Amino acid sequence: MEVQAASKKSRKKTVEKRRPLIIAGPCSAESEDQLLQIAGKLAAGKRTDFFRAGIWKPRTRPGNFEGVGNTGLRWLQRVKEETGMRTATEVATTTHVYEALKYGIDCLWIGARTTANPFATQEIANALRGADVMVCLKNPVNPDPALWLGAIERISDAGIQKIIAIHRGFSSYGKTRYRNMPQWAIPLWLKKQVPGLPIICDPSHIAGKRELVPHIARRSVFLGFDGLMIEVHHEPSKALSDAGQQLTPEAFERLMAGKFRNSSYL
Ligand code: PEP
Ligand code: MN
Repeated sequence: MEVQAASKKSRKKTVEKRRPLIIAGPCSAESEDQLLQIAGKLAAGKRTDFFRAGIWKPRTRPGNFEGVGNTGLRWLQRVKEETGMRTATEVATTTHVYEALKYGIDCLWIGARTTANPFATQEIANALRGADVMVCLKNPVNPDPALWLGAIERISDAGIQKIIAIHRGFSSYGKTRYRNMPQWAIPLWLKKQVPGLPIICDPSHIAGKRELVPHIARRSVFLGFDGLMIEVHHEPSKALSDAGQQLTPEAFERLMAGKFRNSSYL
């Protein structure tokens, strides 16, 4: 994909109906057994294109679970061997990039805290030069559309062809309905700037509560997003990170099948 100004022809292309891209899996890799259990269920449902799991976790404050690190890369390799699903993980440093590429991770995503830092995104872009890998960029934590676009341009300028933007909402201070405010106008602005760029929605990080995930997911589909990234855990309430917002594989399946009439199904 080339990041370029809107043209009539490319705008028409984005209107064509494509199957939504689905990235699903736990917030964090916790053990090999946990990954294989969740992956087995997602693979059986045949709705997941990429299996996600965070190995290096950017926690706001120290002392929380910060991910299993490099060991998790072998577990993701095993998920791929046993289920055939492609894999995705977050990278925040050049070392993460080199390690993830070494282990054949198919999709690297840049998290919201990293997209907010042009030095960090440029270093990651330099490390990615020449790699044949899909790269997803979450929006920055702060509602600054140009910062998001700038990060996408840095990755594109490094020669990466397969780029996807992920809308995960924006931080705000004080008590709010959602963990991160959707501010739908921002991803829609981005879509206008780069019409060929697929944008998917991460309703898990916007909602912050599993009860609100289906509502946000449906809204993004209605607004024409190109897919979803959803956190799925076999025992969500026991998850070591983001326990309140992850869906069980069964709830995920019902959401994908369009069977949520209301959130009491969760
Ligand atoms: C995640 O996907 O688990 C994550 C940490 O996301 P974000 O960068 O959107 O906070
Ligand atoms: Mn998470």
